[in-house]
Amino acid sequence: MGQGKYIGVLSSGGDAPGMNAAIRAVVRTGIYHGNTMFGIKRGYQGMIEGDIEQVNRYFVSNIIKDGGTVLQTARSSEFLTKEGREKAFKSLKRFGIDSIIVIGGDGSFRGLHQLIQEFPIQGIGVPGTIDNDLYGTDFTIGFDTAVNTALEAIDKIRDTASSHSRLFIIEVMGRTSGYIALYTGIGGGAEDILIPESPMQIPQLVSELEAQYKAGKKSSIIVIAEGETTGGAAEIKAAIERVINWDIKVSVLGHVQRGGDPSAFDRVLASRLGYESVLAVMNNETDKMVGMVNKSPVLTPLQDTWTKKKDMDLTYLKMNEVLAAQQVKALEVTV
Ligand code: ADP
Repeated sequence: MGQGKYIGVLSSGGDAPGMNAAIRAVVRTGIYHGNTMFGIKRGYQGMIEGDIEQVNRYFVSNIIKDGGTVLQTARSSEFLTKEGREKAFKSLKRFGIDSIIVIGGDGSFRGLHQLIQEFPIQGIGVPGTIDNDLYGTDFTIGFDTAVNTALEAIDKIRDTASSHSRLFIIEVMGRTSGYIALYTGIGGGAEDILIPESPMQIPQLVSELEAQYKAGKKSSIIVIAEGETTGGAAEIKAAIERVINWDIKVSVLGHVQRGGDPSAFDRVLASRLGYESVLAVMNNETDKMVGMVNKSPVLTPLQDTWTKKKDMDLTYLKMNEVLAAQQVKALEVTV
């Protein structure tokens, strides 16, 4: 076997459950194949400051089950400048690092792409974000766990909603993407799901809810994505209150969705993507993200991951309308 590479791994941007499993897979796959592995702490900020250490396989012992990231993560405004990125590149060179694996979201990938354009460094991205908003992978690391966490909260809210005949509007995370809302809404049996991918007008929502209320439905759950475009939970609450005399509560789930131990799905996905990212580096691939599409590993140019939009199957939304409907749809008779 030839001389291995000097590979640095970092987590960057918003943290996501499963990042540790990905770090573990990167470090162990790298060492197995004779590479020298480095942990870069606190994302690009740690890279700039040279907060880097060589790691062995024990560095990642017992972390597969933990949320968060042992390498910590950060946002770095300094890295947004060319001077900052030059400092980061010099730090990498001091350790002899020739390639980096960045676990993060679209912001982290923009940063990686920029660094690769400006300096002779090889880089591969691993999709780690609860938002599932990256083109080039069916699922991102952390999404499944975030959905399960939100679902647990919704189940509990449903108990109190039905005891008090209340309408709950529950806002979940996802930035501009509605995946968390769609999956938690379906899994939690929500009556309505509001996502940016399929904007619903407030008057339509209000008249639907009015019909439900008149049909005797006294408790209801609406799941709304944080990036929903009709005006957010407070505006929707006010619009409904103008028409229906219903006790309405708003609940914003927030950062609880980022924490917790990763689900089995996220651990397996993170392990596979971490493993594949090292193979990609060893194959001299660069400026690409490794994802899983239809159960197979796929490399996608980093730029595509944020410029292209992942198709959402809106049948799920239609299906949820049917599952939540109070009325029987009239039979369509064809003659
Ligand atoms: P995420 O990766 O979760 O989307 P951020 O959007 O916060 O997180 O991005 C993480 C970091 O990546 C930022 O703090 C910044 O240092 C770097 N970054 C983001 N966008 C760019 C860009 N256009 N050019 C250079 N670096 C960037």
